[in-house]
Amino acid sequence: MLGLDKPSRDLLRYPLREYHVSIPVRMDAGDVQIFRGFRVQHNDARGPGKGGVRFHPQETVDTIRALAMWMTWKCAVVDIPLGGSKGGVICDPHSLSMREQERICRGWIRQLSRDIGPIVDVPAPDVMTGPQHMLWMLDEFETIHGGRHPGLITGKPVGMGGSLGRKAATGYGVVITMREALKDLGIDPGKTTASIQGFGNVAQYAIELYHQLGGKVVCVSCWDQSDQASYAYYRESGVDLTELQNITDTFGGIDQKKASSLGYEKLPGEAWLEQDVDILIPAALENGINEDNVEKIRPGVKIIAEGANGPTTPGADKALQTRGIFVIPDFLANAGGVTCSYFEQVQSNMNYYWTREEVLAKLDVKMTTSFNAVGELARKKNIPMRDAAYVIAVGRVAQACKDRGWT
Ligand code: NAD
Repeated sequence: MLGLDKPSRDLLRYPLREYHVSIPVRMDAGDVQIFRGFRVQHNDARGPGKGGVRFHPQETVDTIRALAMWMTWKCAVVDIPLGGSKGGVICDPHSLSMREQERICRGWIRQLSRDIGPIVDVPAPDVMTGPQHMLWMLDEFETIHGGRHPGLITGKPVGMGGSLGRKAATGYGVVITMREALKDLGIDPGKTTASIQGFGNVAQYAIELYHQLGGKVVCVSCWDQSDQASYAYYRESGVDLTELQNITDTFGGIDQKKASSLGYEKLPGEAWLEQDVDILIPAALENGINEDNVEKIRPGVKIIAEGANGPTTPGADKALQTRGIFVIPDFLANAGGVTCSYFEQVQSNMNYYWTREEVLAKLDVKMTTSFNAVGELARKKNIPMRDAAYVIAVGRVAQACKDRGWT
């Protein structure tokens, strides 16, 4: 569609750089374990790389590559001056003490401290990492380089260079795009219901804003660490966010017994997408909607707002298109997180911090403008939202590469 020349296609198809590191960590028991870590910098033509660091036992460099590329398109589609990167460590925080996690964070930075930085590549939290991990990483970087470099990393604790509103930003961003989609489809949010995969950071804040718009979430799901299985929790009268938060661990796992005593019906994990609702929000991990389960989506579903990265496989995406379900693609829907990370970096670099209201108002403007630009192109070219978002994002990055004389 963009008519890109071969050098542009070849350049954008692969990461510019990738780092594979080994991190030796002294465990609490006294033995040493070696953890594998990665940082992939896909493209920085439009600005320093930006992207989270995941801790996950099944992490692979291929996933990190894909996520780094998505970060490039995500920053471009919301038009912020950053490129795309992603990092990860193969580890399971469920079975690590906080001190062991701290040593992994510091070790990851020690291996990569020459290759990241406030004007080079800026990490952030992602799955199973949070503000505390970011602060340990920042502290290690500052110990190595001297001085204070709060612009190195985002998702820092508020009061230690973090931005108000950052925790809410991804989930809120998902719902802002959903609100605009409902407006386009002429549907009153107050008359809609939703079902969500996941009950972590993205899901919880998406529920908060969606409830403020008058919507009703009837089902959420999560990964149960002790059973090594996922479950969905359904309540016809709607979920109560605070009530569920009170019985959820820091990894977004809901306590089964307490949920059932509060009147939630426990269902198999996949039941979240079999609900008779207007909106589905996948907000867990990749490939939650795939060829094996896409047909289980009920006819009444009108919108899928992709909170997670890569929640829909290409085959399932085609099936959704055929059925005419309005999909808000991941790298647009969940771009609120990186947008607010960018705001955090701006504040850190200025050393002047905005109020939560200011941050969320700027987020709303960015997400609404970006959604509308994608929607307008989709209508004009009669193409799905995902294709329109890619046309805008890839076009901007390809142009930056050309302007720099790279291609
Ligand atoms: P999180 O770790 O806070 O929560 C993840 C949730 O998913 C937990 O409730 C967990 O129990 C659940 N889960 C895991 N495996 C599951 C399964 N198989 N079935 C059902 N539930 C399962 O993570 P998060 O920060 O909310 O991120 C969720 C997704 O959103 C990820 O794909 C992440 O890359 C993406 N994302 C996050 C941000 C952010 O700012 N946090 C930004 C952009 C994209």
